[in-house]
Formats: sequence, C-alpha cells, structure tokens
Amino acid sequence: MCVRSNGVRSYREPRVGPRLLVALGLGVVLGIVVTASAIGPNRALAPLALLSAPTPTPVPSDPFWIVRAKKPAAPTGPRRIGIQSGHWKTDDVPEELANLRVLGGAVWSNITEQDYVLGIAQKVAAKLQSKGYVVDLLPTTIPAGYVADAFVAIHADGDETGTARGFKIAHGDRRTPYDEALLQVLGEEYWKSTDLPVDPNLTPGMLEYYAWRWERFQTAVSPYTPAVIIETGFISSAADRAVLLLRPDKVVDGIVNGVERFLREVPRDAVFRDDLVFPRATPAPSTP
Ligand SMILES: [Zn+2]
Repeated sequence: MCVRSNGVRSYREPRVGPRLLVALGLGVVLGIVVTASAIGPNRALAPLALLSAPTPTPVPSDPFWIVRAKKPAAPTGPRRIGIQSGHWKTDDVPEELANLRVLGGAVWSNITEQDYVLGIAQKVAAKLQSKGYVVDLLPTTIPAGYVADAFVAIHADGDETGTARGFKIAHGDRRTPYDEALLQVLGEEYWKSTDLPVDPNLTPGMLEYYAWRWERFQTAVSPYTPAVIIETGFISSAADRAVLLLRPDKVVDGIVNGVERFLREVPRDAVFRDDLVFPRATPAPSTP
C-alpha cells in the first residue's frame, strides 16, 4: 500500500477467461445439482413456494477442526458496492487497528497517497452511482462484517528509488472463490483502460490486509463479500504519474469497468448461496 517490498506471491498477467469460466461453469453445475436434489422427483406436483424455500434439515454439529463462517443475509435491491479510499480517516480507527494510525501512505513531493486516492475513489463512487448502483464510500474503518456485492480498497504505491512501477491486485484467503474472480476481471479491465504494467510484487500488507481478516478483526468485510485491494500504480514513478495524475479518468474507468463486469458475470445468488467452511487456522494442541 505504501512502500515496496519483495512479494511473497507472484501475480499473473490479468487473464480472466478460463479461470472465471471454470468457476462460473462449476457454479452452474453445482446449482443444477443442488436444485435438482432439493426438488426431488415429484417437482411437478410441488407448490412453487416449497421449491424456493425447502425445509431445512437439522445440521449435525461441526467437528472441532473446522470453522464455519457466519452467513449474512444477502443484500437486497440494487447491487451494492463498497469503495474504500485507502488511509482515509485513519485517525478514527478503533483500538483493534490502532497500529494503522501511524501508516500515512505513500508520498511524492507534496502529493500524498491519501489525497490522490480519495479523489479517485470519489469519482469511482459517483460514476457507479450514476449507473444505478448503491455505493458506500468507505474510510479505513469498515462497518463490522460489511456485506456488499463487491468491495474494492483503492491505494497507490510509493518507492524511494523512483524506479518501481505498475499496478497490482490482491485478496485474502479463507474467503469465497469470488474474490479471485473479482481480481481477475478488475485486473484485466484496469490494464485495458490504463495500459499500466503489472507489478508482480504483492506485499504481505496486501495479502493480509485487515479488511479480509474476519476471524481476527471486527473491522472487516464479511467473508461472503467479494473483496480485493488494488494498488493503482506508483506515484513515485514518472511513467505511472503520466496516467495516475494526468489521466485519472483512465484509472477511474478501469475500476468502474472491472466492478461492473464482475457484477454482470457473477450473480448475487451464486455468491451468497453456499456455506463457507474452513479448516481451523490454529489446530488444537495434540494430547500426549
Ligand atoms: Zn496505501
């Protein structure tokens, strides 16, 4: 988000096609299987209300070694998008995120990441609202368990040498597969709009961004909310600044197009349909 460091995971060129299609195809197949088994052989005789709301069967208690994420009610009405402006109002964070108060973000000359990103985030929010979406423009402090159809945290990078450049996108783990779908689509659309190169150096700060860590922090998005962080480029790079500062419309359009395409390709029902279950992060100590 702020200072470049060597990444721990490589980032692939934006390439949405095959992976997303596979994910969607699998979702469709699973959807058909689930629906068919819920309906049963006498579906022609069953009232419609029963088909859409099958009686839940009692669920046996989970084994100790798994964690079941709390399932939120799916959003209703128009598609809802959370746009987070990086480092905005960081002084207001709750105690659990007190260590963020000292992180001001990247700086180049008299331009701060926080000011630059807020300008972009406001334009992205306004453009999405004008298209009929409900948009929450969010500061560093996120509503606990925030639920939306998509969440994008917007940041920019800085690098002391002035040589690093490019954009990168990351998501957390222990979430739905739709974070990866959002990453792929947003990456492709951002790249098409800005023509900025991909910086492969994802940082731990991106991969372990507090907003993903619903098991640790209250101030986090629901694990069901498809969520990514985008580092839009390096404000310390003259080549990147030619886009970030001189053609901010390209940055805004890239993010807007990515979010819109994701929402078009991934229906709300698919995201909020299946229970999310994970292995327990810290195994219980073994007994002698
Ligand atoms: Zn940042």
